[in-house]
Amino acid sequence: MPRTLFINVTIACLDSESGYGLREHGALLVEAGKIAWLGAMQDQPAVGDAEVIDCAGRLLTPGLIDCHSHLVYAGDRADEFEMRLEGASYAEIAQRGGGIISTVTATRAASEAELFAQALPRLNSLLAEGVTTVEIKSGYGLDSDNEIKMLRVARQLGSEFQVRVQKTFLGAHALPPEFAGRSDDYIERVCAEMLPRAHAEGLVDAVDVFIESIAFSLAQGTKVFDCAQALGLPIKAHVEQLSDLGGAVMAASRGALSVDHIEYLAAADVASLAQHETVAVLLPGAFYVLRETQLPPLAALREHQVPMALASDANPGSSPVTSLLLVMNMACTLFRLTPAEALRGVTINAARALGLATEIGSIEVGKQADIVLWNVVKPSLLSYQIGINPCAAVMQAGNWRSRTGLSA
Ligand SMILES: [Zn+2]
Repeated sequence: MPRTLFINVTIACLDSESGYGLREHGALLVEAGKIAWLGAMQDQPAVGDAEVIDCAGRLLTPGLIDCHSHLVYAGDRADEFEMRLEGASYAEIAQRGGGIISTVTATRAASEAELFAQALPRLNSLLAEGVTTVEIKSGYGLDSDNEIKMLRVARQLGSEFQVRVQKTFLGAHALPPEFAGRSDDYIERVCAEMLPRAHAEGLVDAVDVFIESIAFSLAQGTKVFDCAQALGLPIKAHVEQLSDLGGAVMAASRGALSVDHIEYLAAADVASLAQHETVAVLLPGAFYVLRETQLPPLAALREHQVPMALASDANPGSSPVTSLLLVMNMACTLFRLTPAEALRGVTINAARALGLATEIGSIEVGKQADIVLWNVVKPSLLSYQIGINPCAAVMQAGNWRSRTGLSA
């Protein structure tokens, strides 16, 4: 495993409770896959045979973390997108087989190899921008075999590429057509069969539910959490995206890692997130695609110092987005996050949303050496530009994943 000393580097450490934790004229030693030393350039340690990289003042950050994605699915919904823009109503689109069930049908029909091949360009798009950890949810299989198939593909992506994949079981994403009118029976199936089987295969790092008028009720979400927690699994939830059903407070009170979307979360309920150290995951890609207007309760989130994370929500229906840099820009433009909040949202706070903040998400001695060198000299440029990818080099757990842009 290489020993690498970065010198003449500007480091956004993200190691404090706010801001970038910026360290200019710095140096950083990577050894045995971890950050071994960090300090001012003039204090750099003797490093013997380590490779020395002169970064010419460029910016180094933790590897980016996409903490909410639905990256594995088959097909696309471009026809639906086109029909809608040509004037078709939602009812007409549904009649012609559109909507989430079209993705379920395509995903059920696909083999593991086909799902892997279709997910690959989406994963590559994230990796090209310095993503070193990605969370991938199931939720388009909606029966045991197909949910397990999706999670196996997620696992395979993580084993074949230098990226850490966190696998989230989202059996309670939508009601499968064969359970129409019997949603309680489906939740029973999720709890009694689907989740235990996926967990027994070692495919579940966390359990998610979609609590919404178009998905599952608060009571049904609570039931899934009961089952998840009985298995010792962490929980998270899609909540308050289109209406306020009380899902965020329920999830937080049970110690959820994160509550995601939360445009309709009441400001008065934000305190319970802070109380239970639940991360607020904001998903501006879906907000943009759905042309939503209700903003998350940002002032209350800041007032209560709730950690805010950002993610792609990469999915074929409401967020066909596979660029975290674009998500950072959208968060600044649409939600008025500061560029520092945006960078925190895809690093340390995203790590918290996955329960991994002791290992990754910041540049601190002892943490895993997941790092990105950028062709910029200040972090605001990462959120400010649209359409430029300034990623120069990526190291994952101390190993180079790409280094083509190392020479300044
Ligand atoms: Zn989602």
